[in-house]
Amino acid sequence: MSAPAPLPLYRCAHCGRLHHPFHDRCLDCKRRDFDIIHPQGNARLLTYTVIVSLPEGFDQPALILGLAEFENGARALGQIKAGSAKELRTGMAVASRWETIRFVNGQPIHGIKFEPLE
Ligand SMILES: [Zn+2]
Repeated sequence: MSAPAPLPLYRCAHCGRLHHPFHDRCLDCKRRDFDIIHPQGNARLLTYTVIVSLPEGFDQPALILGLAEFENGARALGQIKAGSAKELRTGMAVASRWETIRFVNGQPIHGIKFEPLE
């Protein structure tokens, strides 16, 4: 089974601003040329939150979501593998994996999961 493609990010070829999702024009310089890049390396947790009222398809009572920045400057939102938010702090190192995050109509939906390294 092949792994699903990692999250694409769109980097403006002129000013370097990262976009996700895709925009027709750069939000800063308004040009239309983008390079597709992917998050690389480990990441640092920028912020996180806990969601306790989840939609259908999540087999868990609560979900911790975090925004992290990768070594190449890419930022991404993902689920965090932690027992509680008390285990987390902003700035901590996290590893990322592309995994099944939920099921919709029996089909797996993939996304980023972060795992604390500290
Ligand atoms: Zn730009």
